[in-house]
Amino acid sequence: MVKNGYICPRCNYDSEKKQGMERHFQRKTLCADRNNLALTPEIIDVVLKNRQYHPPKQPAKVVNNNIINYNIINNLICQMDSGEKLMHLLNYQQKQIEDLEDGLEKRFQHRVDRLENNKYKGGCYLTLDDLLELVNDVTKIDTNNIEQFNVLFDKAVKRLRLYRGKGWESFLEDVGARELVSLIKSYYLDTYEIYLIKNLHTDHPIGLNRIKLLEHLEIYYRFISIFGLSTFVDNFTDLEILGHRLTGDNENYLAERYIDVYGQQKREVKTAEKNQVKRKIINIVKENTIHNLTELNQTLMNILKVDNIFRDELLRSKEIAVAPQI
Ligand SMILES: [Zn+2]
Repeated sequence: MVKNGYICPRCNYDSEKKQGMERHFQRKTLCADRNNLALTPEIIDVVLKNRQYHPPKQPAKVVNNNIINYNIINNLICQMDSGEKLMHLLNYQQKQIEDLEDGLEKRFQHRVDRLENNKYKGGCYLTLDDLLELVNDVTKIDTNNIEQFNVLFDKAVKRLRLYRGKGWESFLEDVGARELVSLIKSYYLDTYEIYLIKNLHTDHPIGLNRIKLLEHLEIYYRFISIFGLSTFVDNFTDLEILGHRLTGDNENYLAERYIDVYGQQKREVKTAEKNQVKRKIINIVKENTIHNLTELNQTLMNILKVDNIFRDELLRSKEIAVAPQI
């Protein structure tokens, strides 16, 4: 059997790929009923989103299906704190919330490798929109990756929350935005900065455009200066960046030169522009939190509709009294 794969709860067919399971559910003839289970659209939905569906082993005793209608389930979901919902769902899926830094490392590994080995044929140039898109990318989840819901905006206390080092950390909006950008910088953008500088001082057969490289370094420096984040180039000597020394008497020529470029951007950027960029980052997190919660609620709702045991446990944990059946 495939580990962590998709399993048909009716015939035990398994597939590592979602596509395989989708095909299975679209068969012209119904698969063999090995588990005495009728495949309803809800159950199919649960399998496609959670890979597996575990039917209740015994009929639910506590909950009367006539009483527990969708309204009650809906209320239940609405009343629950988002962190609590996430915990219940991840327990059900036998997953754990992903540490933000682990996630960033994984997400950017490929891009970092390409930058370090100069594998971008036309060069890698990030615009301000591209930089903002990185934040969007990092904070948006889909139904199959609920465990990546590790950045959220908590409306009740107006705090940005990041899941890191086995716990949730809360930040004021601006501080949280800075922290988030700073993490993306550590796991990706620091490498991008060195890539631009290195290529500005290297002759390339593929002919990267120097004007364009400098222009995008300035865009990048302007962006990080808004958050008060500093350059990365100052951690290295020319030799470490280029593999050779540029001048005889100064081994930190590049660091000094580009700290100046950074300083100029930092001086030029106006307060209005600063506030606008910060606001955009915070809004991206806010909008994605709403999107992510919708995904979370939908997934939870689908499971609650078909899994009585899970539903009972949840109701018990919420201590909602259910009238006995007469
Ligand atoms: Zn099947």
